Amino acid sequence: MSDCIFCKIINGDIPSATIYENDEFKAILDRFPANKCHVLIIPKKHVENIFSIEPKLAGRLFEFAAKLAPIMKKTFGFDNMNVVQNNGVIAGQTVNHFHIHLIPRYENDSVNVSWKQLELTDEQIEQTRNALEESINL
Ligand code: AMP
Ligand code: ZN
Repeated sequence: MSDCIFCKIINGDIPSATIYENDEFKAILDRFPANKCHVLIIPKKHVENIFSIEPKLAGRLFEFAAKLAPIMKKTFGFDNMNVVQNNGVIAGQTVNHFHIHLIPRYENDSVNVSWKQLELTDEQIEQTRNALEESINL
């Protein structure tokens, strides 16, 4: 994708603070971080989002996230982290190339990852549960 900023980073056309890479993905520091040591894990192949990524590739990216998180924790001495992965404009995705955010959290920081909790009836929950369960055919 010629106009994709993360493809340009992967290709080396735009510089990045790379902390790790292999043949499938690159982990970099976010250039406009939510906090110190905000890491992005980016597949080298251009895939837009969770709806189109090959599930096994997504699994390997999250496997790496789970390996990297305790290393980040030990290196920087924090105990809390948000793992965020946005899909689509409404969900806050600004770069349409799949990526996982690892965002360390510190006491009284300014990061905000939250939502207002809805009040649903048991019947509404059951309708949703039923529709989804019937759709799952893995
Ligand atoms: P999202 O909003 O989930 O699509 O996240 C995109 C992330 O990419 C944001 O956190 C940006 O700060 C980050 N970002 C944008 N441009 C660059 C860049 N050139 N290098 C590193 N990170 C970037
Ligand atoms: Zn791309």
